[in-house]
Amino acid sequence: MYQALYRKKRPNTFGTVIGQSPIVTTLCNQLRGGNISHAYLFCGTRGTGKTSTAKVFARAVNCLEAKETGEPCNNCEICQDILAERNLNVIEIDAASNNGVDNIRDLREEVRYPPTVGTYKVYIIDEAHMLTTAAFNALLKTLEEPPAHVIFVLATTDPQKIPATILSRCQRYDFKRIARADMVATLALYMEKENVETEADALEYIASVSDGAMRDALSILDQCLSLYADEVITLAKVQALLGAVDQSALFAYSDALVQNNSAAALAIIAETAKEGRDLSRFTADIITHFRNLLVAAQVTDHTDILDYAPETVERYRTQGKAIEPMTLISYIREFSELQNQMRYSAQERLALEVCTIKLCSQHSRPLSTISNSNPESDVAVSPTVNSVKDNATPTPIDENEVDAFKTGVASDIASSAAADTLAPLDVSTSDPTPVSVPSLGETPDDKLKVVVDNWSDFCAQLSGLLKSMLALCKVESGGEGLTIICRDKGSLQYMKDQQAQILEKITQYFQLAEEPFIVFIADEGYNDADTFKESISTQINMAVEFE
Ligand SMILES: [Zn+2]
Repeated sequence: MYQALYRKKRPNTFGTVIGQSPIVTTLCNQLRGGNISHAYLFCGTRGTGKTSTAKVFARAVNCLEAKETGEPCNNCEICQDILAERNLNVIEIDAASNNGVDNIRDLREEVRYPPTVGTYKVYIIDEAHMLTTAAFNALLKTLEEPPAHVIFVLATTDPQKIPATILSRCQRYDFKRIARADMVATLALYMEKENVETEADALEYIASVSDGAMRDALSILDQCLSLYADEVITLAKVQALLGAVDQSALFAYSDALVQNNSAAALAIIAETAKEGRDLSRFTADIITHFRNLLVAAQVTDHTDILDYAPETVERYRTQGKAIEPMTLISYIREFSELQNQMRYSAQERLALEVCTIKLCSQHSRPLSTISNSNPESDVAVSPTVNSVKDNATPTPIDENEVDAFKTGVASDIASSAAADTLAPLDVSTSDPTPVSVPSLGETPDDKLKVVVDNWSDFCAQLSGLLKSMLALCKVESGGEGLTIICRDKGSLQYMKDQQAQILEKITQYFQLAEEPFIVFIADEGYNDADTFKESISTQINMAVEFE
């Protein structure tokens, strides 16, 4: 018979409980020292190991041959019985369906009798916050004077709903969401044991959508295994299963947004909807995408905070570098608002489309700076996108506008300034925004512009320290010269020392007739990772966590 992964992989020992080592260590110490409590409260979001830990604990206190570490042996008669759910000493109560006072009265009767085998009766009350007030009061009487042979483990996702009188009688343990790296490593190990080949990106994705809940991750994997039996589990397959869009669509959508190409952006939404994908999932994925772009472009050492395959990170970096950080931040803010709104809206697609059009018109700039905005292109992070970036600084968001937007998308449309733009919602019939292609540098000024626009490509083909130092600089053209803005005085000094070499490289790479005029300046604080993080948090007005 097929057994669901989350049952099969349920940790059987403290050592296999994932990501909760402080709790596990404390419990083991208590078991070793023989100073266990009679009431525990396990708090934490779903799928973090509360019930599993409670079950291991229930065996550990009853085990006939418990190990020195405090672990149950899982071999003795009692352990075996508990594992097979034959033992009457471990009683699991689902408070969601047994929340009445009668259930607790029965329980109070029962607890008076000592166990027939083993040392302790362990009551595991799941979803304890669902108990009624009367039931809590009845339970309290037992908790005030628990018989020596009884242990209560209350598990809850919502400790706020547990009365203070109960809380004060329990030892409380807060289970953390499982860190993504821990989860990916564990999933990889499980799949190896199951002899299933999986792509690293696929596991990364599962871990990210499960948001720290192992049970969710395993149930997604379960679905993958039954749908794609004997196949390699790839990112695309997982995304198809979850109704998510593949990353190319996210890259293309971001490009369209940056280029103010609402037609292209709406076409992607239309395609996504047509494939039956979930648009709120799409919105969540877009937020993650912008976050990844920000991190990849702005933080040099991002190995710990951007847990993706190197090719994927490189792709994020390329697109991220082409978009002004403040623009990305405002996108994250807008789409987070949209995500909230979608929870209460029956018209997800409309909400997403309106938001898209709004952003495309908000970040408007002269059309002449937009070029080569081919809606078909997968990753249009060509040098031409760079030319857009300095003009893409977002206009401050008008609070009234945001409020008006929040009051209801549907009613908003009639009065919205975007109403005109909104008319051709059927994008298949509307032509993409007309665009012009820039001439490739005829005047000296134009040539310098080409240098600015292709700066990251130029840096990419250099090597060593010069490469990384120059890549961190901002470059501007004007007044027949180039201004290279260094992030601090140290790198300014370095640049000045290397001036001859830099001039030569630029002249050579861009095939200039003569060496350009270059000014080096230092702008302290520019591109600094720490101040950057701070400024994001204040900008989007919420805690930014780079896990
Ligand atoms: Zn045992």
